Amino acid sequence: MPYVPARPGRLTTGNNGAVLEMRTQCEKCGTPLEPMSTNARICSYECTFCASCAGAMADVCPNCGGQLVPRPTRVGG
Ligand SMILES: [Zn+2]
Ligand SMILES: [Zn+2]
Repeated sequence: MPYVPARPGRLTTGNNGAVLEMRTQCEKCGTPLEPMSTNARICSYECTFCASCAGAMADVCPNCGGQLVPRPTRVGG
């Protein structure tokens, strides 16, 4: 059977395992958060929320208690 390498950066869903890819919607209200959106807030554990929900929660992640900060829209450049 040929070896098929995994492709990094591909969004994977449907498994019970942890998904560490960039999330594309608010975990609280489901607002779409595109990778380039400046409306996204993220904690150190990659819990992702929209700016509205983050503000309502005083920028504190309800999952881990970490601080929610603006998610970088791009790396490098
Ligand atoms: Zn939200
Ligand atoms: Zn968190």
